[in-house]
Amino acid sequence: MIDRVQKAHNLMPERLVSDTAYGSGPMLDWLVENRGIAPQISVIDKSARKNGTFERADFIFDTENDLYICPCGNELKQYHRAYKTPRSGANKDEAIRYRAHKSDCDACALKERCTPKEPQCKVTRSIEVVLLFRTGLRLS
Ligand code: SF4
Repeated sequence: MIDRVQKAHNLMPERLVSDTAYGSGPMLDWLVENRGIAPQISVIDKSARKNGTFERADFIFDTENDLYICPCGNELKQYHRAYKTPRSGANKDEAIRYRAHKSDCDACALKERCTPKEPQCKVTRSIEVVLLFRTGLRLS
């Protein structure tokens, strides 16, 4: 549709508003990187849980510091130490994992509501969405 409008009317939008159906990581990345268009589109969120534990929406993303803040106010980071050889960031599944400190989760009164079966909590995001966050784009 974008290409047809450009071809027919020589117009290229600076921003694009759409529904969440277009809010996948690859689609948002394509709009920004390939077309230079700022998306006004909510990111698809499939993190909803049915067991009553916290969802990703319960964690706040700190764009400036590239970390999540958990409901207890603790930080979840991609790395908790500096590596001599910088890491690429994403796993083979193209996802970035932000992890809490195990010591924070061990001492947390909300652990049963957060991560009852794991030693520490982690939040996962697609690399495309994280890279767009890092550019300063305001995605919801
Ligand atoms: S279990 Fe860990 S990540 Fe979850 S709320 Fe507690 S401290 Fe935060």
